[in-house]
Amino acid sequence: MASTQLFWPVSHRDDDFWVCMSCLGEVFYRKVPMPDCPSCHGVSTYEGFTLEAVRDWGTDDLIAKAVAAQQEAAAAPSAVESAAPVEAAD
Ligand SMILES: [Zn+2]
Repeated sequence: MASTQLFWPVSHRDDDFWVCMSCLGEVFYRKVPMPDCPSCHGVSTYEGFTLEAVRDWGTDDLIAKAVAAQQEAAAAPSAVESAAPVEAAD
């Protein structure tokens, strides 16, 4: 079902990147998906890491997702909770 993904906003310390420790295929910046992981549907499988940590052990795909998530958050800092669509801008 292509329903809108909901998130819990999470922000503490420097561990801003939340990685699913079950599938290691999803990472979010300062938020975690609810009620479960969109990839493996694991519950409470997310742990916080720094970007340096993700770069240290993550796959290239995971690192790319982490960087993209951070850029997305930086571009739309208030859109995290409302999940409003981000308009494409040049
Ligand atoms: Zn997962």
